[in-house]
Amino acid sequence: MALLDCLRQHSYAVTPGLCLLCHQETRRSLDLCQACESELPKLGNSCDYCAEPLATDASGICAQCLRAPPPFSAALCVFEYAYPVDHLLQRFKDSGQQVAGYVLTRLAAVNLKETLNRLPPEHLLITSVPLHWRKTRKRGFNQSQLIADWLNTSTDLSTEHTLLKRHRDSISQRSLDAMSRRHHLRGAFGVSKPELIKNKTVLLVDDVITTTSTVSEISRTLLEHGATDVIVIALARTPRNAAMKTGTRTT
Ligand SMILES: [Zn+2]
Ligand SMILES: [Zn+2]
Repeated sequence: MALLDCLRQHSYAVTPGLCLLCHQETRRSLDLCQACESELPKLGNSCDYCAEPLATDASGICAQCLRAPPPFSAALCVFEYAYPVDHLLQRFKDSGQQVAGYVLTRLAAVNLKETLNRLPPEHLLITSVPLHWRKTRKRGFNQSQLIADWLNTSTDLSTEHTLLKRHRDSISQRSLDAMSRRHHLRGAFGVSKPELIKNKTVLLVDDVITTTSTVSEISRTLLEHGATDVIVIALARTPRNAAMKTGTRTT
């Protein structure tokens, strides 16, 4: 069990959980009450490949993946990037309130456990989307790395956070079309220990997926270096059109 998990469990025995949203006692070992949990926007019907939200009566694969399937075989996302999930993730990343990310990850882990348990563990490796070192230094942590570690407390798979290197910091990509985004990201990532991913399925953890540009580029890089498959895992998914309209971070 990770240190933070251990400390949390211990502290709940002394002080009850306090809800991050309604500020009431949660009466459970989590800082989100049952009522607020039930209000979180779960990802509904979505694309089998990229988890893009689809109309409730649509089935299968989104138009973009039909035109060009992504290099990863699936994206597993739990929440829609909408209030209050977006608010909790901003508190996590921008205000350094790690408990907000921890709460969402704990809830996501329950949802993902069955799917992850179906994958053969000896062929799996978990890694996280790397931040450029300047951003890590500014923020003080890599949110995707923390999410990966918290997720893995219930699965105990091999984790390797130094596998990927980010050579360039990303510029805002929201004004770019899909082709330009791909061109901008080409060569932005490298694999430092290719021997670790030979014949492995890599579980690539991110916090939010919007356009899939970044996770697609990383997946291509991993496959070029010998991984057999990449499955992307993220806490939340932004509908592609909403991301472009509102200027949400486009990764
Ligand atoms: Zn609450
Ligand atoms: Zn899709």
